[in-house]
Amino acid sequence: MEGCIFCKIVDGSMSTERLFETDLVLGFKDIRPQAPVHLLIVPKRHVEKPDELKPDELADLFEASRQLADKFNVRDSGYRLLFNVGRHAGQEMDHVHLHLIGGKRSKSIY
Ligand code: 5GP
Ligand code: ZN
Repeated sequence: MEGCIFCKIVDGSMSTERLFETDLVLGFKDIRPQAPVHLLIVPKRHVEKPDELKPDELADLFEASRQLADKFNVRDSGYRLLFNVGRHAGQEMDHVHLHLIGGKRSKSIY
């Protein structure tokens, strides 16, 4: 979608280190990390809500999270997987993204 930063990262017009990629999803580092490991995994298709994701995209998002947790050595120590959905959750970027946050103990979100 025009003007969408994550679409530009996906199509390569904005450069970023492509950490894990399938035909359907791409993982890269968050630009303002909230923890030692803070990655984003996005569907390549511009979708604004997680409930619009197709089963194949969901499968690849979770496969990406597994591979990246391994690659960044947080699989044993643990990590948080998080979708912010909409205004009350503080969603800032319209293009759906799964946060993978680890490398330190996360605070409770409740
Ligand atoms: P949200 O609050 O929408 O769930 O999170 C959006 C995330 O995208 C934030 O953690 C923010 O740091 C990250 N972000 C915003 N712009 C960019 C960018 O241009 N590149 C990357 N890699 N991350 C970004
Ligand atoms: Zn987009």
